[in-house]
Amino acid sequence: MEAQTKTLIKRFLVPLLFANLAVFAGYIQFQPDFLMHINFYDVGQGDSILIQTYLGNQILIDGGPSDAVLGHLGQDLPFFDRTIDMIILTHAHNDHVAGLIDVLKRYRVKKVILPEVAFESGPYKEFLNLIEEKNVERIFAHAGQRIYLDSGTVFDVYYPYGKVAGVTSSGKYQLESDDLNDTSIVGKLSFGKNKILLTGDAGINVEQQLLLQYDLDSDLLKVGHHGSRHSTSKEFLKEVTPEYSVIQVGKNNYGHPTQETLDNLAAASVQVFRNDQNKTVRFVSDGVNLYPVRNPMR
Ligand SMILES: [Zn+2]
Repeated sequence: MEAQTKTLIKRFLVPLLFANLAVFAGYIQFQPDFLMHINFYDVGQGDSILIQTYLGNQILIDGGPSDAVLGHLGQDLPFFDRTIDMIILTHAHNDHVAGLIDVLKRYRVKKVILPEVAFESGPYKEFLNLIEEKNVERIFAHAGQRIYLDSGTVFDVYYPYGKVAGVTSSGKYQLESDDLNDTSIVGKLSFGKNKILLTGDAGINVEQQLLLQYDLDSDLLKVGHHGSRHSTSKEFLKEVTPEYSVIQVGKNNYGHPTQETLDNLAAASVQVFRNDQNKTVRFVSDGVNLYPVRNPMR
């Protein structure tokens, strides 16, 4: 072979071959690994959780207060995957909804689950407008619904009980609950034997009602309301008996998480992960065991 041809092969063809192999290897990695991945993103003071089911469906629960969620999705989802199967908005506060606006702009979202409540705020309105504009299927959550995330993964809605807003005489929606936090979607995500309790920002009065009605027993608890003292009562923990908990918390002026909540978790021997200390917190479940992992999804 001529020296010139050899150089050509070395310089262009060999790197090209390796580049192809790298893309192929990447593609294999993106295939569902038959594990459920639960990622609690570090988005500052706010909630954002990406679930990838064992068959590869992606469900985003809340979007945090900013577009920080996009960086996390960009890292975790393959570059060719621009679809999110479902968004669950727990409630309309900015630290849950704002990041979802950017997600709706950048990704094709198939379905949005949200509480039936109206709240006058710019980001929430923009979120609702985008859903309408993009013709995203919208489902109002109410207790008793079972939402299939794939053929083996379900999300059972425990709360709210129904419509939590009324319509005024002028045709405008009005909030019936005094506290928007108590309109949060609460429910249990089940994959095989593993259960995860998702609470949004629901307070102790909601917890109190739920523990009378449901089997709350779970492996993992998303601690309510960023570790506020208005959530996560001792009685509630006694029913949930989680092995792990995650507090989605960042820099804040509310004193979250409060010592009271941390003490309650410690007294119940629950292992605590915090986004302000541990950054993004990741778990994996094979349907029998659920455990924390260090590595990103891919
Ligand atoms: Zn919040």
